[in-house]
Amino acid sequence: MKLDDVRADLSAVLFTEEHIETRIGELAAQIDQDYADKSPLLVGILNGAVMVMADLSRALSIHCEMDWMAISSYGSGVASSGVVRILKDMNTSIVDRHVLIVEDIVDTGLTLSYLIENLKSRNPASIEVCAGFRKPEAVRNHVSVKYLGFDIPSDFVVGYGLDYAGRYRNLRGLGILSPKVYS
Ligand code: 5GP
Repeated sequence: MKLDDVRADLSAVLFTEEHIETRIGELAAQIDQDYADKSPLLVGILNGAVMVMADLSRALSIHCEMDWMAISSYGSGVASSGVVRILKDMNTSIVDRHVLIVEDIVDTGLTLSYLIENLKSRNPASIEVCAGFRKPEAVRNHVSVKYLGFDIPSDFVVGYGLDYAGRYRNLRGLGILSPKVYS
């Protein structure tokens, strides 16, 4: 789905597909260097991180493995529920592994903080975070995102894996959802 296909639902376009692709390529180059001899385990957070994971992993030149977790966050609304729960755990042991959490977006950082604490207790060699997008509250809360695509405003966004009520995940590019769609 292209930005033009749902242009009327968006109050603004933040990033085109090409813009995101370029930035993901830059992050991959950085990860290639930092993990040159480490074969990281990329842990994608379902469902939103599917696009970042697919693009980032294919942009890497080094070997990596991939696994997935699902964590409850927003339900179908647009405000954080504050409830963090593991719905699906990964299949791989992370003991002594270099873990790179791949997230779609960091808003309050609640999900990520919970996840990092949980994964640390499993004794990995290291844990870092790669996220496509970050909102201002995460900056205020000092949530550490080593590999960041873009800082964005605090509006509710859709596209590039991010949904509203299950839709728009397949939108190429990222846009601010017009309030008329959910109000
Ligand atoms: P946090 O725990 O950092 O507040 O929220 C993180 C999760 O909330 C993300 O993984 C994502 O699923 C969801 N989220 C946060 N902001 C947005 C947004 O603007 N749009 C969508 N679709 N989901 C969001």
